[in-house]
Amino acid sequence: MSENPILDELVHDQSTGSLLYKGVRYLLIRPETIAGFQKALTESCGKEACENLFAGGYAGGSLSAKKYKELHNFSDHEIIDFMMKMGNQIGWGNFSLVRYDPGVKHLCVAVKDSPFAQAYGQSSRSVCHLIRGVLAGMASVLFGGDCSAEEVQCRARGHENCRFEINAREAHSA
Ligand SMILES: [Zn+2]
Repeated sequence: MSENPILDELVHDQSTGSLLYKGVRYLLIRPETIAGFQKALTESCGKEACENLFAGGYAGGSLSAKKYKELHNFSDHEIIDFMMKMGNQIGWGNFSLVRYDPGVKHLCVAVKDSPFAQAYGQSSRSVCHLIRGVLAGMASVLFGGDCSAEEVQCRARGHENCRFEINAREAHSA
């Protein structure tokens, strides 16, 4: 079996300049492009920039988790495994599941060699907001409700790996 089934199944449509996986469009982008955009955004919007990037990742993560879960009829464990492998195969770093506890709606994921941290360089704050968003978006599908996520360790802050703690937000009933 191939080491990268996602890349093997990627379809290039020359007439539109599209890369498609299972009909979903993807694009390759240099991490420096994102780091530059992120730094400029942080300068103009401050902390709100982090939450905007998080929201972008969240939208993509929940769409992907929903789509591939339905497409393959995956269990929760299978979709986590698929998304970790997909992250790896599309170049977002080496993902590993640390903990999945559906009872308390908690997920913990470690990522080695995040391209976002690598391109950003040293920082006093965690910088991998897109990964944080994607994981929270995926968790929202698993836990059936909105989720929050914190990057408690980040390569950009000098930690060995990036580490994300994801929890379901408390449902506030009116
Ligand atoms: Zn990080």
